[in-house]
Amino acid sequence: MPADNHPDLEKIVISKDALKARVRALGREISRDFTGRKPIFVGVLRGCALFLSDLLQNVTVDCSLDFICPSSYEGGMKSTGVVRLLLDLRESIENRDVIIVEDIVDSGLTMNYLLSNLGTRRPRSITVCALLDKPSCRKAEVPIRYLGFTLDDEFVVGYGLDYKELYRNLPYIGVLKKSRI
Ligand code: 5GP
Repeated sequence: MPADNHPDLEKIVISKDALKARVRALGREISRDFTGRKPIFVGVLRGCALFLSDLLQNVTVDCSLDFICPSSYEGGMKSTGVVRLLLDLRESIENRDVIIVEDIVDSGLTMNYLLSNLGTRRPRSITVCALLDKPSCRKAEVPIRYLGFTLDDEFVVGYGLDYKELYRNLPYIGVLKKSRI
């Protein structure tokens, strides 16, 4: 698909309409699976912002919302592999059904860290919901229960995902021109 929207993009890989349809389906699936369980959605900042907002508008069960912010990319394109928490949850997740909402699972190191960190807090369950998956980059196994799209090994931006803090506001997902990196 040609990137006739933002001039810095080489191509669009997931259109606005495709995102909307898939996120609606994920919201409905989660609502079905979590009926009567009042899950707590944990958004992984900052990339989850647009996905989480659209997802929650398609969730019809009672639920609560909290955020966590790990750091590992430091604004670039390669994971440092070292994950630490810049912001922790405000709520206790003891005995709660936790749904972690992440923009993209790449090496899996961030999600792996979050699963073991949150797992020590005695939740009833932890489920991973990721918009994007790049399985060819995996270094640590991650059980993704709800997945939007699988991608090749390309660095993508838009719909919450950034490159040096830009492009998060694009309503679609695309690949940057080499000249912009
Ligand atoms: P992982 O620890 O799985 O390697 O990386 C997870 C985090 O890296 C994601 O939450 C996201 O912030 C960032 N990331 C991984 N791949 C991409 C990508 O293709 N584009 C952008 N913008 N961020 C990515």
